[in-house]
Amino acid sequence: MHRKYLLSLVVLLSSIITSAQYEQYFTTATMRLDYNHVGTASEEHFAFDQMVNDGQWAGSKTVLIDEFRLGKYFFEVKEPETQKVLYSRGYSSIYGEWETTPDAKDNWGSFHESVRFPWPKAEVDVTIYKRNRLNGFDPVWTYRVNPKHHRAFTAPVEQHYNTFDVVVNGTPEKQVDIVVLGEGYAKEDMDKFHKDNKTIRNASAAVPYEFTAILMNDSIYGGGGIYNLYITAAVNNAFQEYLFVHEFGHHFADLADEYYTSATAYEMDAEHLEPWELNVTANPDPETIKWKDIVTPGTPIPTPWEKEKYDKHSIDVQKKRVEMRKAKVDEKVMEDFFLDKKAWDDKLLANMKYSGQVGAFEGAQHKATGMYRSAANCIMFTRHDHFCPACQRGIKLIIDQYTK
Ligand SMILES: [Zn+2]
Repeated sequence: MHRKYLLSLVVLLSSIITSAQYEQYFTTATMRLDYNHVGTASEEHFAFDQMVNDGQWAGSKTVLIDEFRLGKYFFEVKEPETQKVLYSRGYSSIYGEWETTPDAKDNWGSFHESVRFPWPKAEVDVTIYKRNRLNGFDPVWTYRVNPKHHRAFTAPVEQHYNTFDVVVNGTPEKQVDIVVLGEGYAKEDMDKFHKDNKTIRNASAAVPYEFTAILMNDSIYGGGGIYNLYITAAVNNAFQEYLFVHEFGHHFADLADEYYTSATAYEMDAEHLEPWELNVTANPDPETIKWKDIVTPGTPIPTPWEKEKYDKHSIDVQKKRVEMRKAKVDEKVMEDFFLDKKAWDDKLLANMKYSGQVGAFEGAQHKATGMYRSAANCIMFTRHDHFCPACQRGIKLIIDQYTK
C-alpha cells in the first residue's frame, strides 16, 4: 500500500516539476519552424526558412519528452548551454517516403517541412535525427533557434478561413486536438498538394491542433496517413470510415500496416530488423515479445492460424481485382466486391482456434513471413471494423502523451 502511495506521489511531483519547466522555457504560443528538406537517394540537406507563430500551444505542458520514439525522423529542442532536452517528438514526412522511390535515384527532390513545439523564451538548439540502418537515430541537422531572428514572425498567422467546432470535450491542452480541412483537393492535385506544406499548415493554424485530417473529394483515391504530419481520406466511398480510421492509425500512433501481399511461393526473407512500430514485431519470443503484457495466457507464440487458406483466397481476389480494374467496371461493382472480401475475411479470422486471443500471428507490415501481428484480425490488416489489442494499446499511449 505504502509503496503505491509513494509511487503516485513521485509521479505527481515529477509532473509538477515539468509543468514549472514549461513556464521557465516556453510561452503559451506554438513555434512552427519551417525548413526546406532537399536531397537524393544518397544525400540530404536542410535549410532554414522561417519561424511562425502557429497559435496557442494545444499540446501537453507536462509530457514534453517523447519516450516512444516512433517515426522515421525525430527532433529535440535543447537548451544550448546544457544540451538539456526540453521537448522532443517523432514524425515522418513526404520526403522520407519520396527518397525511397526510383525518382530519388536520378533526381533531386525539394520539400517544405515544419516541426512544431512551444515558443521558446530564449535561444534553443533544434536537432533533427533520422533512422539509420539499424533503426537507431543519427543527428542530421542542428539549427540554433533565435526567437528574436528577423524571420521569427511573432504575430499569429493571418486567417482567412471559416472554422466551426465539431466536437469539444474540454480545453485543448487536456485533449487530443484534430483539425479537419474539408474539400479543396482532388486526385489530380496530389503533386501540388504534397508541395503545399505552408498552405496546409497555415490553414490548420486557424484552430489549436496537433493532428490534421484532410478530406478529399474523390471516390477512387484511397488516401494516406503520415505520422505526425496529416491524413488524407476520400469521402465518397463505401469504405470511407474504414479508410479514415486506418489512415488515422498511421498518422496518430505510427501504427504499421499489418497486411502483406500473399504469394504462392515465399522466398525465405533475410532476417528482419525489429520495427519501431508498436503493433508489429519480428521477435516471436514469448519471453520478450513487445506486447508481452497483453498476451492471452496459454496462447502459443508464434500463434497458429489458417494462413494457407487466407493466402489462397487473397491471391484469387487480387487476380480478380486486376481483371476488374482492367475492364473498368463501375465503382459500385468494385465496392461490392470488396464488401464480399471483407465478409469472407471477417468470418475466417473470427472462427479459428486462437481468434480473439493475443499472440503473434505471422504476416504483417508487407511481409508474408518473419513479421508478426498481435491478433488474427485488425483494421490495419483487413477492412475489419476494429483495432487489435496491440494497436489499441499504442493509441492509448499516444492519447496520454497529449492529454496528461
Ligand atoms: Zn492492429
